Amino acid sequence: MRKLTGQDIVLASHNKGKLVEISDLLRPFQIGTRSAADFGLTEPEETEDNFIGNARIKAHFAAKETGLPALSDDSGLMVDALNGAPGVYTANWAETPNGRDFGLAMTRVWSMLNERDAPHPRTARFVCALCLAWPDGEDMVFEGSVAGALVWPLRGSRGFGFDPMFQPLGKEQTFGEMDPVEKHAMSHRAVAFAQLVAALDDA
Ligand code: IMP
Repeated sequence: MRKLTGQDIVLASHNKGKLVEISDLLRPFQIGTRSAADFGLTEPEETEDNFIGNARIKAHFAAKETGLPALSDDSGLMVDALNGAPGVYTANWAETPNGRDFGLAMTRVWSMLNERDAPHPRTARFVCALCLAWPDGEDMVFEGSVAGALVWPLRGSRGFGFDPMFQPLGKEQTFGEMDPVEKHAMSHRAVAFAQLVAALDDA
């Protein structure tokens, strides 16, 4: 098994929300982090049709470019009544000519559910694949998910992306309303991260 302590890792993401959450999750460990932006890395094209495949592309690209271990996250929202959409294309649903607009993306999801007269609760899950890749080509991948229901109107302004419309199973608050500490104890990202920590020698 490989170790991480004593060296910096690159967080292979340009998504601010993810960077905040991954940094929070890494904080208890003695691991220095650098961002993809520190190295002026571009974003590789995500050509796979699954979370793990795209996480691998991002981590291997960053590890190769920087010569450091790299940690990537590929994640998204899978809505049951939409047959798992937007899934790996979650970020794309927010694209506009002026950048990403998640208010618009959430409206789109809710409108599609209304068009289909989808029954309530409108169940969904967040999925997160993490890949830790080394410059020599070795990697580890982990996947986590959290089940919940979509709500409308949107609630809360914390978190990022689709958080204001996602209420995890058994909770009263959406991820957008929840204290980040609570989200980080149960999110798809936290579930995948716990597996990563367990797989490392030094964690
Ligand atoms: P990608 O992994 O960069 O392709 O983008 C994943 C997209 O899924 C993000 O841009 C968010 O919109 C959404 N997403 C992933 N994780 C979360 C989360 O924890 N909360 C809210 N939205 C998320």
